[in-house]
Amino acid sequence: MQMEELVALCRRRGFLFQSSEIYGGLNGFWDYGPLGVLLKRNVKNAWWNDMVESHNEMILDQGAPSTYEMTGIDCSIIMHPQVWKCSGHYDLFHDYMVDCKESKKRYRYDHVKGRWVKGLKHGEAGTAAQELTVFITTMETEETQQALEQAAMKFFGLRKKDLESLSWEGEIESISSLDDLSQVVGPDAHHPGTLTSPREFNLMFKTTIGALGGEDDFSFLRPETAQGIFVNFKNVLDSSRIKVPFGIAQVGKSFRNEITPRNFTFRSREFEQMEIEFFCHPEESEKWYQYWRDRRFKWYTKMGLTSDRLRLREHEQAELAHYSCGTADIEYAFPFLPEGEYGELEGIAHRGDFDLRSHMEGKLVREGDQLVLQKDANGQPKYRGSGKDLTYFDDQRKERFVPHVIEPSSGADRATLAFLCDAYTVDKAPTAEKGADAERVYLKFHPRLAPIKAAVFPLVKKDGMPEIATEIYAELKKHFNVQYDEKGAVGRRYRRQDEIGTPFCITVDGQTVQDGTVTLRDRDTLEQRRVKKEDLLSELNDRMRM
Ligand code: ATP
Repeated sequence: MQMEELVALCRRRGFLFQSSEIYGGLNGFWDYGPLGVLLKRNVKNAWWNDMVESHNEMILDQGAPSTYEMTGIDCSIIMHPQVWKCSGHYDLFHDYMVDCKESKKRYRYDHVKGRWVKGLKHGEAGTAAQELTVFITTMETEETQQALEQAAMKFFGLRKKDLESLSWEGEIESISSLDDLSQVVGPDAHHPGTLTSPREFNLMFKTTIGALGGEDDFSFLRPETAQGIFVNFKNVLDSSRIKVPFGIAQVGKSFRNEITPRNFTFRSREFEQMEIEFFCHPEESEKWYQYWRDRRFKWYTKMGLTSDRLRLREHEQAELAHYSCGTADIEYAFPFLPEGEYGELEGIAHRGDFDLRSHMEGKLVREGDQLVLQKDANGQPKYRGSGKDLTYFDDQRKERFVPHVIEPSSGADRATLAFLCDAYTVDKAPTAEKGADAERVYLKFHPRLAPIKAAVFPLVKKDGMPEIATEIYAELKKHFNVQYDEKGAVGRRYRRQDEIGTPFCITVDGQTVQDGTVTLRDRDTLEQRRVKKEDLLSELNDRMRM
């Protein structure tokens, strides 16, 4: 599938629009249109329902070390600035960036890729050609070598047929692997050596609190929902009868001032996360980590991401954050990535007792295999914690401990994008349907995710058909999102619904008037069955639960 086709469909049919489009758009921000809002809400509802609401704490889930409880929370986006100092985000949540002195553009250090190349540089008229070895770069992730050839042609002043005169050396690599940038030709530059040394750039959006707010009254828009859960750990314990092991879930907006937002909604500056912090006894944490990793992977497959584009990848030791005892990513091979590359949908991390201890004691750093309080130049704690007791007393074990945390952290927008990419299907030779185009494009969403669950059509606008169809529509509408459509040939109406992923179409025809049956058409198989009007609701309910 070509990504451009999906992006065009999303815009045309009202799934996604660029934010502030009439003013030229705002990079890294997106708006969900009438169908997009339904799709994304269905993704979040399916997650909340499967992880929190329908979870039964009395029954042992397959693979779970024991029974457990789940609950939810909804925290504020702006929190006390100390939260971000103790969590480590204030000091550590940054990316490196480089600026180009020539093009005045800014790039993420690890995103600029390139390759060494030797060739004759043709200067302006009258000057002699000069042999040069430079590191040509690009920001393109797709067809990187092709993009580098384009850039090299521009730099050396060559025509396509002269490309063979260049000698490429080594593999494509990121500029962050080079020690010296003096021979690097920036992605939009004409000369080598115009990129500055990398600088740290904090990804949190800073904001001022209150009308009179000065430098001391700043805080941040949260870059993740997780910290709200940690700082409310004691409130949840004290206000409910919940016992470890248990999880607290939260769905909400997060903000990161990404240096190079791109790839549609994949890397945005405002996005939604669906996070669980699961609290357990330290001795059990390894088993809970494995449980959540496998459970979360299965959830995506259950929601229809069954293709081999989905994978579970355990991090190497060197990739782990300083506090983590294990992390796995659930990844999807998005069509905008180069062949063989995957993008993260969700990370499942074993975070040990790092977070609760940080909010008790202050910012922690690793020393050998210990987490210790970070000190300033005077030997005082660099950032003080809340000083509140965030330990847990287990009355069965008769033991007090700081629970360990397993964190399945996923992005609602990335999941929605993966469901869209995976659902996009082109059927070149579908069964003929009256008045429809030869090619059929459909979104093969799981019925739980489909924005519209069913569409009701009268075959023609006469002979009592519209009246019966309206009645069916009104009845079904009480239960799910249904559309009514009586315009155009029925085949074209089918195609319109296919393109937005409606799993079922119901057509009222001449036979309905006589025997009370309608046709129920399946989006994926195109099979049409006659069903009694009064059985439609239970039939749809059964199929929706698939
Ligand atoms: P990446 O390495 O892609 O920047 P990350 O490892 O920083 O992601 P986490 O901090 O683990 O991401 O965040 C958890 C989840 O939140 C990610 O798996 C992703 O689904 C989502 N997410 C993170 N950053 C963004 C973003 N800029 N745009 C959209 N979703 C995001």
